[in-house]
Amino acid sequence: MPRDYYDVLGVSQDAPVAEIKKAYRRKAMEFHPDRNNGSKGAEEKFKEAAEAYEVLCDPAQRQQYDRFGHAGLRSAAGGGGGGGFGGFQSFDLSEALNIFMRDFGGAGGFEAIFGGRGRAKQQKLRGQDVRISLRLTLADIAKGIKRKVKLRTLERCDVCDGTGVAVGGSTVTCSTCGGVGEVRQATESFFGNFVSVTGCPACDGSGKVIDHPCTACLGEGRKRGEKLVEIEVPAGVAENNYLTLRGQGGAGVRGGASGDLIVGLELEDDPKFERHGDDLVYDLQISFSQAALSEEFDIPTPLGDVHVRVPAGSQTGSVLTVRGKGLPSLSRGGLGDLHIRLQVWTPTNLSVEQQELFRSLAELEGDPPGDESLGRRFWNRVRETFNG
Ligand SMILES: [Zn+2]
Ligand SMILES: [Zn+2]
Repeated sequence: MPRDYYDVLGVSQDAPVAEIKKAYRRKAMEFHPDRNNGSKGAEEKFKEAAEAYEVLCDPAQRQQYDRFGHAGLRSAAGGGGGGGFGGFQSFDLSEALNIFMRDFGGAGGFEAIFGGRGRAKQQKLRGQDVRISLRLTLADIAKGIKRKVKLRTLERCDVCDGTGVAVGGSTVTCSTCGGVGEVRQATESFFGNFVSVTGCPACDGSGKVIDHPCTACLGEGRKRGEKLVEIEVPAGVAENNYLTLRGQGGAGVRGGASGDLIVGLELEDDPKFERHGDDLVYDLQISFSQAALSEEFDIPTPLGDVHVRVPAGSQTGSVLTVRGKGLPSLSRGGLGDLHIRLQVWTPTNLSVEQQELFRSLAELEGDPPGDESLGRRFWNRVRETFNG
C-alpha cells in the first residue's frame, strides 16, 4: 500500500497548490538520483514524491484521492479513455524525472539545477508539453464543464506512421555510438581520468539512424497538425489550478512518448457574486418596509435559485448565511455556503402621498437605539466573515 500523499510531501490536507509545489521541489532536490549516487532508497523516495505531487496538483485527481484514497485513483484508470483524468499508475524513474524537468527544469534545464549531465536521450525523443489556458465563468466552476479545444501541435506523421522511414527504407543502428545513443569520451588530466557523456550528435541520442527518411516529415516521424481535445474541468476548481492531460501534447520524435497538455485555469469575475473559497457572497438591496416587516426573495445562484426569508427587523450590513448553497468544494467534497449581505435602501424622490405616509409613520416609530457602536459592530463582523 503506497504511503499517504500528504505525508509523503509533508503538507496538510488543505495545502494550496503553491505549497504542494514547494514541498515537492524540496523533496525532489533531496532525493534526486544524481545527488544520491544512484541509491535505490533515494530513487524510491524521488518517485514517490513525483507521484504524490502529480496527483495533488491536479484538482480532479486530488478530489478522487481525498474521497477514495489510492483506490479512487486506480479504479478511475479504466475509464480515463487515454485522457489525463483518470489513468494513474506508479511512475518509473524516467517519468518521475520528466515531471521534475517539466515543472522545474526551466530554460537552463537540468544542468542549471545540478550542474550535472542531462538526459539527452529521453528529452530529445519526447514530444513537447503544450500549455493552454481556459477561461471559466462562475457557472462553469459551479457545475464543471467539458470543453472541446482545437490544438495546433506536432502530430504523428501519417505517411510513415511516426517511424520517420520512407517506404522501402529502413532503420539501422547508428555507427557513431553503436546504438547506445550516448558518446563517452575519456580525458586524462592531472587528477585522473574523467569520463564525459554526451548525447550522440549523429542520431540525436536515439541510437538509430534512417537510411531513407520519410519525405513528408523529413524523418522526424511527426509534422504540424491540428487536433480536437476534450477537456473536462471538475466542479469547484480555483484560480492557479491546472489540469494535466497526459500524452495529449506534441507527438514525440519517431514514435517517442508524446508530451502532456497542461491546462491553466483562469476565472472570470462575476458581476453578481464575490467568491471566497467555496463560499459565495451576494449583495441584496431591500426596502425599509421589507427590512422592517420581513420578506421572501429568490437569489439566483449558479446552481439554481435559493429561496430566503429576510427576517423582520433586519439591518444594513447584517448577513444571512444559507448553508450548502455555495460552490462545490474540490478538496472537502460537499458545497460551500451562500452569504447574503443586506443593504437597506432609503427611498428618494418621494411622492406627496409617500411623504405623508412617512410623516405619520415617523410620529409612531420612536427613536433608533442610539447605540453608536452598533454600526461599527456590523462592519467588523462583515470584515471578519470575509477577510478571515
Ligand atoms: Zn513521415
Ligand atoms: Zn548515435
